[in-house]
Amino acid sequence: MLIRKLKLSGFKSFVEPAELRIDPGLTGVVGPNGCGKSNLLEAIRWVMGENSPKSLRSGGMEDVIFAGTARRPQRDFAEVVLHATDGEGEELEVTRRIERGAGSAYRVNGRDVRAKDVTLVFADAATGAHSPALVSQGKIAQVIAAKPAERRMMLEEAAGIAGLHVRRRDAENK
Ligand code: ATP
Ligand code: MG
Repeated sequence: MLIRKLKLSGFKSFVEPAELRIDPGLTGVVGPNGCGKSNLLEAIRWVMGENSPKSLRSGGMEDVIFAGTARRPQRDFAEVVLHATDGEGEELEVTRRIERGAGSAYRVNGRDVRAKDVTLVFADAATGAHSPALVSQGKIAQVIAAKPAERRMMLEEAAGIAGLHVRRRDAENK
């Protein structure tokens, strides 16, 4: 799967709508401390379904919404749209939006879907919010210290079989 474009609005420090085109090849994001580089990676994880406060460096779900500054009021929603080309070369557009007091909702190619559907879309393409391809600041040290079971999970995700576990858990719960 190739991420082509990212649109952000009200997500963390990206208060005004911003659009980033990601060309094939290596992309570098540079800027001073605190300018939002890590927030970009978190936006990718978030639209892929991430909810863990630790991965998102947030306290609660709504902490990803622009919180306001001395000069700017807070926003009522955050939205991230990810455009990608999937493993089969099909265009994919995934949207996640959260509104204060209303929780978050997902769309895939314009259709309302459940969070689980989004997880499967990415797991089947051997990627997702926990993909080893998304390396957060300080992550390398964590991988080195990981327990064998955790390392196995990373390998399963890289091998593209993580989606099978989601489906098995689903089947077992029925
Ligand atoms: P470094 O080079 O230090 O790693 P960085 O470019 O990765 O910096 P980020 O960590 O992405 O920077 O951005 C941090 C900034 O995002 C901080 O200024 C923080 O106040 C801002 N920020 C995070 N969440 C929100 C929010 N909900 N509302 C407004 N600003 C936010
Ligand atoms: Mg950073």
